[in-house]
Amino acid sequence: MRSLVTMALIMFVAVGAEGQQHMPRDPMVQTNATRKLTAHVYAIEDKDTTPGVPNIGFVVGTRAALVIDTGMGERNGRTVLAEAEKIAPGKPLYLVTTHVHPEHDLGAGAFPQSTKMIRSEDQIKDIDEFGYQLADVFSRRSAVNAELLKDAKFRKADITFDKEYTLDLGGVTARILAMGANHTRGDTAVFVPGDSVLFSGDIAMKGMPSFASPYSTVSHWLASLDVLDALKPKIVVPSHGPIGDATYIANYRVYLTTIRDRAAALKKEGKSQDEAVKTITAEMQGKYPDAGRVAGAVRAAYAEAK
Ligand SMILES: [Zn+2]
Repeated sequence: MRSLVTMALIMFVAVGAEGQQHMPRDPMVQTNATRKLTAHVYAIEDKDTTPGVPNIGFVVGTRAALVIDTGMGERNGRTVLAEAEKIAPGKPLYLVTTHVHPEHDLGAGAFPQSTKMIRSEDQIKDIDEFGYQLADVFSRRSAVNAELLKDAKFRKADITFDKEYTLDLGGVTARILAMGANHTRGDTAVFVPGDSVLFSGDIAMKGMPSFASPYSTVSHWLASLDVLDALKPKIVVPSHGPIGDATYIANYRVYLTTIRDRAAALKKEGKSQDEAVKTITAEMQGKYPDAGRVAGAVRAAYAEAK
């Protein structure tokens, strides 16, 4: 298990490092960039998929508001809090994160004590098992990251749930779903039925999927896509990159099905896992931009294949 964890981390880091080749800007959530998407839903969109910067979501009702993801470290968390206070002045706040990686979760300390932190049981398991491993990796990447994460701590949950938590914000409801092990074991998705907006986390984005957990499987990820698809969202806000629609879900299905079938075929032919990674990466190269992420998916698919 330990070597699997290390492997997952190394792959995750390799992909991140590759993304840093074109000198991205610092990992700061933009101020004054909150955009209204629907009657109750707002987002700070990071179109450029800047490493270390998530998309931030807000669902605002008459009674309270829900914030989705925090940015990396308290400095970013304060930016997100200030934006929340602009669009939902004086309203009680709830906070949920799409998963417990540093840029999504480790800004939570900036929120006041009165903010209610909602966590799935699986997120708590991820925190207990992996702790600050990835925060340490991020900190070693740059001085800015190190400064942002220096005193960052995981915030304790005020509300926990197993599979689903429904939050009535007054005139609008948010369904928070624990999605099982896809990008991480503690992946959540948030669906706002009245506005037909889905916050899909890392489960469906423009960029290719990152298998960052030793618990990730292709079969479960495909089942998760079915769950998200059945919600029939009009707008999909992923946790990174441009806001889109359900075609993100469809594209992931094609990508993961292709890798699943090719990995199974190569395994049947007697090819090793490493050979499968090499062959399928070459095959996917032209069609998909993040060829560096293919390996993680192939390794998972190969291990699962009968
Ligand atoms: Zn992540």
